[in-house]
Amino acid sequence: MSEQFQAYQVGKNEEGQRCVLTQLDDSDLMEGDVTVRVEYTTLNYKDGLALTGRSPIIRKFPLTPGIDFSGTVLESEHADFKAGDQVILNGFGVGEAHSGGYAQKARVSGDWLVPVPDGLDTRRAMAIGTAGYTAMLCVLALEGHGIKPDAGDILVTGAAGGVGSVAVAVLSKLGYRVVASTGRLQETEFLQGLGAAEVVDRAGFSEPARPLGREVWAGAIDVAGGNTLANVLSQIKRGGAAAICGLAESMNLPTSVAPFILRGIAMYGIDSVMAPIPLRKQAWQRLASDLDFKLLDELSFDLDFADLPQAGADILDGKIRGRAIVKVP
Ligand code: NDP
Repeated sequence: MSEQFQAYQVGKNEEGQRCVLTQLDDSDLMEGDVTVRVEYTTLNYKDGLALTGRSPIIRKFPLTPGIDFSGTVLESEHADFKAGDQVILNGFGVGEAHSGGYAQKARVSGDWLVPVPDGLDTRRAMAIGTAGYTAMLCVLALEGHGIKPDAGDILVTGAAGGVGSVAVAVLSKLGYRVVASTGRLQETEFLQGLGAAEVVDRAGFSEPARPLGREVWAGAIDVAGGNTLANVLSQIKRGGAAAICGLAESMNLPTSVAPFILRGIAMYGIDSVMAPIPLRKQAWQRLASDLDFKLLDELSFDLDFADLPQAGADILDGKIRGRAIVKVP
């Protein structure tokens, strides 16, 4: 029997794109072999773009935004999942080309789902969300490069944002000395609470970079791109590495080959959207074990489902601190 459920839906006409809260029914669900009762979702930069229409992130209309969600399987024709299983979804174009988490129900491919690992529940999974899972992919890249806590300081840019705040918390729990770069120095106490040993003003990374600077960082996690990343690369110690995932400052990267060929540094691009399932499972399991849940509770806050449109504009304006947890009614 077809049931009605609440969902945000982005539509498009001659006047542009508009997001409304509406009622849908099962016939509106998209193709897929697993139907999920969405329990929690969250707010990412990309969701801000989808909710406001400031950038053409949605590739199919009408569409429910929300690039990640957690919930319980209602029906499954996929061999790996059965009714009652708790699952997490991030990426794979959900919330961009396939209807996502800003609804009470979602139908997706079971190939995109990861079981909620032991030690996490659906609420904590969305406190972490795509941002936290991306932070862990960055940490795994630095670890994979062989950077150990005794190698020296790790810089995290955009530290007060979603990816940055989880990166600071995870790295410090793992024993790294973390330097947090932020444009919001009023968040210094918050960042120290997450484990940052030092908090620096991001303005120090905003001017055009020299090809090589003083060697400061054993490694870095960058969400900004642009001059920030160029400066960070010029300051990475010989043999070190940066894991990069964002473009909060710019899509451009005005740098040279110098740090790579004169200091042998590496840069790891992080793509959370199409990351393979085994890597996702590893990242989620590591989050269950290596993230201090007390800190996670401190860096996350509850956001009302009804307030998503306003919060979408706020995240684009850099006004959101940490991670939003949205309980789907
Ligand atoms: P947030 O908006 O929560 O955080 C971004 C942070 O970047 C801001 O809080 C701010 O931190 C900093 N920032 C903003 N503008 C600038 C600027 N002009 N120069 C330098 N720093 C700036 O977003 P998320 O943490 O969720 O995502 C961060 C980035 O990573 C985004 O670009 C996002 O699209 C990308 N991303 C990529 C993924 C991937 O798979 N590659 C997955 C998830 C996110 P502060 O105030 O502390 O300076």
